[in-house]
Amino acid sequence: MSSSQLAILSVYDKTGLLEVAQALNSHNVRIIASGGTARLLRENDVPVEDVSAITQAPEMLGGRVKTLHPAVHGGILARSNESDANELAKLNIDKIDYVVCNLYPFKETVAKENITMGEAIEEIDIGGITLLRAAAKNHERVTILSDPKDYSNFITNLNESKVTQDFRNKLALKAFEHTASYDAAISDFLRRTYSQNEKMLQLRYGTNPHQSDAQAFIGEGANTLPLKVLNGSPGYINLLDALNSWPLVKELSQSLKYPAAASFKHVSPAGAAVGLPLDDIERQIYFVNDIANINSSSLACAYARARGADRMSSFGDWIALSHVVDVTTAKIISREVSDGVIAPGYDSEALEILQKKKGGRYCVLQMDPDYIPKDIETREVYGISLQQKRDDSIIDTSSFSKIVSKNKDINEQALIDLTVATIALKYTQSNSVCYARNGMTIGLGAGQQSRIHCTRLAGDKADNWWFRQHPRVLGIKWAKGVKRPEKSNVIDLYVTGQIPTDEKEKADYESKFEVVPEPLNETERNEWLAELKGVALSSDAFFPFPDNVYRAAKSGVKYIAAPAGSVMDEVVFSTADALDMVFTVNSLRLFHH
Ligand code: 5GP
Repeated sequence: MSSSQLAILSVYDKTGLLEVAQALNSHNVRIIASGGTARLLRENDVPVEDVSAITQAPEMLGGRVKTLHPAVHGGILARSNESDANELAKLNIDKIDYVVCNLYPFKETVAKENITMGEAIEEIDIGGITLLRAAAKNHERVTILSDPKDYSNFITNLNESKVTQDFRNKLALKAFEHTASYDAAISDFLRRTYSQNEKMLQLRYGTNPHQSDAQAFIGEGANTLPLKVLNGSPGYINLLDALNSWPLVKELSQSLKYPAAASFKHVSPAGAAVGLPLDDIERQIYFVNDIANINSSSLACAYARARGADRMSSFGDWIALSHVVDVTTAKIISREVSDGVIAPGYDSEALEILQKKKGGRYCVLQMDPDYIPKDIETREVYGISLQQKRDDSIIDTSSFSKIVSKNKDINEQALIDLTVATIALKYTQSNSVCYARNGMTIGLGAGQQSRIHCTRLAGDKADNWWFRQHPRVLGIKWAKGVKRPEKSNVIDLYVTGQIPTDEKEKADYESKFEVVPEPLNETERNEWLAELKGVALSSDAFFPFPDNVYRAAKSGVKYIAAPAGSVMDEVVFSTADALDMVFTVNSLRLFHH
């Protein structure tokens, strides 16, 4: 047993090793080092002993076992108490005070092309990880240096006898971060090798084609991802859409006890709905009037509504469906331009229909409906990890019981519509405002920095939805061969009053009709709009000014749900009173990013 202090050095990256060893030596610290580390020190005349000097055991298995020995780990892990000291004395083990260790370069090795599993396995550091963890665990007494960048501070502190507890605490944290990221790299490699399409999905690319190396994976706590790819190859944005639209339809369906659907674009819904039956006008404006039995499938009704809410925005959508997909729903999907779908299952004939879409490349995902995500969610932005509790708030018809307006007359349909609008907002990029009627969103304003811009944008969309039902739109005689998306584009020009004036554009516009419809004049527009009534509106945060309420009223809004908390609350509520609206205060703010 020696009374001097003891250090164990075992580093792959030998940067700064001589300096730190010389400093330890100058303070009479006895140095033990593993093979390569000891060699370098010897070559530079720094006094050093092999690990076998304390273990009495040689390095073995070609370096697999170098420092894994009770003499090393007992020496590191012993606390500063009498019983540990007695035990060490009995076994003739010296306490270790300093550990300098960094690990084999696993990440760099596996980043090389054509790396074999055997080569990768040899790069999995075992003893080093154990040294780091043992020393970091016992940081009350042991100093652990895992990063050559810390050597110079350490040397200064050592020279000034200031290797403090605070310094050791920070070094311990760093060591655990080092081992955690090392283990994360190993599990990433093993997941890619052993669990492709189970725990991880290789994605074509990231948000943009120049963002390579994209994947989706699930870590500890699950044997597989909760979703399976049944067809196609999803991209990064597809998954963002899928993982936002799925909970939306799941919650909508659970809260309202109807099948639900959502049509997503760029991680916000273009439409969301529950499967209330469709009347003749609705079937026509949602382009499903040729599907005779549509009302026998409420999932199909839900999707017709979600897709029909804002047909232009839904072009190339990502679809989420709360229930097993039937043939009727698959038929509607099959003739629309769409990127993919997520649902808990597919009838076999429905799946066959979808598999033929997009030349066989249509993306079909099957979601485990029982999957419940972890409570805490983490994401990384610009290299910084952000963490929060998941928004697991529940929204249902009981969420709208705090009515602050004089008019408290709310009916079942209004409660359904407020629920649809509010759950849609929970999965819409903020700021957001949603108008809803007939169990579906009819106007969604997403991702605007100003709330009134959301309210106007969503209101204009709700107006468009309403103008699409104008007899003159319903009576349009289309020229032969005009495709569905072209019809949607032309209807949008017509209902927004943006009839082209440029000669070429006008000719193109008019070529879509057999008989060009007379534009709606201002009086006709005002008269028609005045008939839009009973609309529900939800806002993801409070209204800072009453202008939102005035704008909402212009699009037939009768029911509003919004959080309170603005200095203008009273003015906002009294504006709702003046317009005879029902204003309910939602206790939840629902920002989503
Ligand atoms: P050296 O160059 O000194 O021979 O080896 C240094 C490397 O060995 C360090 O990266 C250290 O983490 C690692 N190491 C230390 N002890 C062991 C052990 O018992 N087994 C394995 N596989 N690696 C170890």
